[in-house]
Amino acid sequence: MAHTCIHWFRKGLRLHDNPALMAALKDCKQLYPVFILDPYLHNNACVGINRWRFLIGALKDLDGSLRKLNSRLFVVRGKPEDVLPKLFTKWKVTRLTYEYDTEPYSLQRDSKVTSLAKERGVEVIYKVSHTLYNIERIIEENNGKPPLTYTKLQAIAKTIGPPKRPIPAPTMDDMKDVKTPSSENHEKEYGIPTLEELGLDTAPLGEDLFPGGEQEALRRLDEHMKRTKWVCSFEKPQTSPNSLSPSTTVLSPYVTFGCLSVRTFWWRLTEVYRGNKHSDPPVSLHGQLLWREFFYTASLGIPSFNKMEGNSVCTQVDWDTNPDYLAAWREARTGYPFIDAIMTQLRQEGWIHHLARHAVACFLTRGDLWISWEEGQKVFEQLLLDGDWALNAGNWQWLSASTFFHQYFRVYSPVAFGKKTDKNGDYIRKYLPLLKKFPAEYIYEPWKAPRSIQQAAGCIVGKDYPHPIVQHEVISKKNIQRMKLAYAKRSPESPSKSKGVKRKAPSIIEMIKKKAKVK
Ligand code: FAD
Repeated sequence: MAHTCIHWFRKGLRLHDNPALMAALKDCKQLYPVFILDPYLHNNACVGINRWRFLIGALKDLDGSLRKLNSRLFVVRGKPEDVLPKLFTKWKVTRLTYEYDTEPYSLQRDSKVTSLAKERGVEVIYKVSHTLYNIERIIEENNGKPPLTYTKLQAIAKTIGPPKRPIPAPTMDDMKDVKTPSSENHEKEYGIPTLEELGLDTAPLGEDLFPGGEQEALRRLDEHMKRTKWVCSFEKPQTSPNSLSPSTTVLSPYVTFGCLSVRTFWWRLTEVYRGNKHSDPPVSLHGQLLWREFFYTASLGIPSFNKMEGNSVCTQVDWDTNPDYLAAWREARTGYPFIDAIMTQLRQEGWIHHLARHAVACFLTRGDLWISWEEGQKVFEQLLLDGDWALNAGNWQWLSASTFFHQYFRVYSPVAFGKKTDKNGDYIRKYLPLLKKFPAEYIYEPWKAPRSIQQAAGCIVGKDYPHPIVQHEVISKKNIQRMKLAYAKRSPESPSKSKGVKRKAPSIIEMIKKKAKVK
């Protein structure tokens, strides 16, 4: 039977290593590549303007690549469970394909859509390609529990063997019997909206440093992979949070949106490593991709992973509610130039270095402001180009010493930490030009500068730039004591003290698994 297929792009905004798309093309006469602007996922609380620009860029790029194969993208709006059944009928669809997605919202959404499809006799095929492994398999290999240490994850990955090799993008030959019907009205009905058409305020947009799309992703990957020595000697802790141009790959937005397959990234690294002495996990670039796998596995296996309450591995902490502190942090008004420079870079450019994320996350939570990591997670989700449900939640838990990492007495100084890699404060001068005339001696602590120096710099602390919001030396010591109390309250049998958590059975994954095959 020749099929009429919808391939539903959600993440996975690429043609290379897209096994679900390839499954759509098998015995297919008509292909409808669809992207749905879902009000639950695509709203301004979740998607900031930089992320919107990245997404629209990625969709344009995808559409361009599909057009080269005589196909094109159909962008529709609405809840997938409302939109898709209508399209099934309108286009007489017989098969739906998509990439497996382990976020709780996606699992529920896909479960609903799968039922609706099956009721209408539409075959559903989905494939794993957003992660290196089928992470359910990792959980299974660990006796139904997500590994709670990186070493354990690594050991399981070793027993499974290397990730599957990526598959090539479809060619004209794969498409020779496939048509994508399209009407004259296509642009009006299914075109990719501009940011203006979406009613977004584009005024805050700066230079497009990280344009969205698969072609840009592969170009950037190629560029990095040419740097054999850099790739082989990469050690994450040796990279700098405050260099003026990124000291790591910035491939994360491309991996998050699936413009770049993580398996392609992995195997390209393997090729570069071959025959060369190279760094190893957890600090190497392979190691970074395994961190991603670690948090994805935890996020699937631990219920309520993005919350403190109901999250069995997360230390319960009596965080304060302080909207003023939260706003000052979010809007780069803490009075600590290193923290404010990082938050400015985040807002302007949508990407900050991993250790810069450490600094601002620790500051917001256990270090200084004692605000819940869930609040920081929301701000990051909106502003980061790479905002990723699992990685954001996992890393915030780590940094707030709520889960995975327990050395709460090790607090980052908002002054000393940045100085280690940028004594002169050039990073601060770039993102907070108001402070650029301060001498290096005071750039991290302008409130300590004598009045004459503040005047000469053209910036008076308390008038032009805020006083520090808290006294770090004092508050961080108090907070360590509060953290100690929170740890003391953890019950001895609390899963967060043991090495793993049993997964509750049967989960939504099992329900879905019964309905469709994961390959
Ligand atoms: P590289 O060092 O070049 O690493 C290559 C790839 O490995 C990255 O693209 C990413 O896919 C993966 N990776 C690297 N570090 C980590 C890590 N710690 N955990 C998981 N995967 C990793 N990363 C996101 O992609 N999305 C998020 O929403 C996110 N939120 C974070 C929140 C906090 C509080 C912290 C501390 C970290 C967060 N990270 C997040 C992880 C990490 O900071 C970024 O993945 C990394 O900085 C991206 O830059 P890069 O591509 O240059 O990384």
